[in-house]
Amino acid sequence: MKSENTKRPVVFSQVDVLDLDSGNKETKNLLVQDETLRVTNDQDWPEGSLVYDLKGHLAVPGLLDIHVHLREPGGEESETIATGTAAAARGGFTGVVSMANTDPVIDTPQDVRYVLERAKEAGKARVHPIAAVTMGLKGKQLTEMFDLADAGAVAFSDDGMTIMNAEVMRRALEYSSMLDKVIVTHAEDCHLKGQGVAHEGYMSTKLGLRPIPRAVEEVIVARDIRLVELTGGRVHVAHVSCASTVTMIREAQSRGLRVTGEVTPHHLVFTDQALATYDTNFKMAPPLREEEDRLALIQGLKDGVLQAVATDHAPHAELFKDTEFDAAPNGVVGCETAFAALYTALVEPGLLDLKTLVRRMSLDPAAVLGIDHPGLRDGAKANLTIIDLDGTWDVKAADFVGRSANSPWIGSTLRGLPRFTVEGGDVIFKDGHTSQAVEEALTS
Ligand SMILES: [Zn+2]
Repeated sequence: MKSENTKRPVVFSQVDVLDLDSGNKETKNLLVQDETLRVTNDQDWPEGSLVYDLKGHLAVPGLLDIHVHLREPGGEESETIATGTAAAARGGFTGVVSMANTDPVIDTPQDVRYVLERAKEAGKARVHPIAAVTMGLKGKQLTEMFDLADAGAVAFSDDGMTIMNAEVMRRALEYSSMLDKVIVTHAEDCHLKGQGVAHEGYMSTKLGLRPIPRAVEEVIVARDIRLVELTGGRVHVAHVSCASTVTMIREAQSRGLRVTGEVTPHHLVFTDQALATYDTNFKMAPPLREEEDRLALIQGLKDGVLQAVATDHAPHAELFKDTEFDAAPNGVVGCETAFAALYTALVEPGLLDLKTLVRRMSLDPAAVLGIDHPGLRDGAKANLTIIDLDGTWDVKAADFVGRSANSPWIGSTLRGLPRFTVEGGDVIFKDGHTSQAVEEALTS
């Protein structure tokens, strides 16, 4: 299904276009017609255009989230491809990269095609599927990576599980490098982690929660960097949580190794201090760590050691999360709040500049996985997000577009709200409550 605006040209007038190199803003009019974006000073719209007067709103390249769990097939009580991509569009994302740990696992070309078809039917954020590295995520037998790539897999990952066998990981890196694809590594040593549920430190001791030391992440990242060195492959470290991991990736990059990393909004904003209330919306894998880790993650994002913000959007229906901390599943939803959460927590206080945040949520993650991003350019394919930096949101569970509301931002006030999301020329999200927006269909 296409949005209602498909046929008519759409104009966003008087928006501030953010230059991602200089950080400067320039007021322009944007015309979206036949999938193409025009960036102009003209006020001459084609007849019948839908015109939105968006003075003071910010226009940026469409955001891309390279780590989401859409739960379909098999987990439709928590999310579907349709609801997950609608949630993403609401968060300003024109595209998402979906993980393979569904039921069944995305480990055959038919599975990849299924995800692509369902996403196309939904007509919201575009989905770039990741396929499994090993059959059934069992960590033993490699998938048919060449066929999976042919079917449309953009990368490979057993995310949710760690590939514990280094020999399997070695071969995965060898095959994927022939395809020039990335292996996204979920870096948690499952034996060392055991039954751990919280970062090992003062808080886990105080609260009586089974601990997860930083070494759980460090040993896998160290191993994978060594295997990149051995194979010439490419590893992308998912959801980096430790200061020490940032240091390892930085060092690997300085030696020219093809290692990249991403960080989630929740690891950039919260620490294990948030566990004091045993709220299961702060339980995730890897766990929230300490302030020194959080500051190192922000620095890594600033420096570009971590190229991407990725949400690890992990919907869980209330019936699963509404239980004691030990028993609750890991993960939180993230797409709908990501930009606003980071604008509020990092950009407004001056910890990160706006252009860097936008870069790490759009062009840079696209480059990590080799996904084509047209950018926000005159004559390019229309793929953009329009943000109301002054817009505020008192986040409540009932507000979520996605099927689950397991968000650590419930109760927070966020600023910087995506108002329009445009993918492939279609308006895939439009905030109905934009007070500044004046919608007028010009009559001929
Ligand atoms: Zn993961």
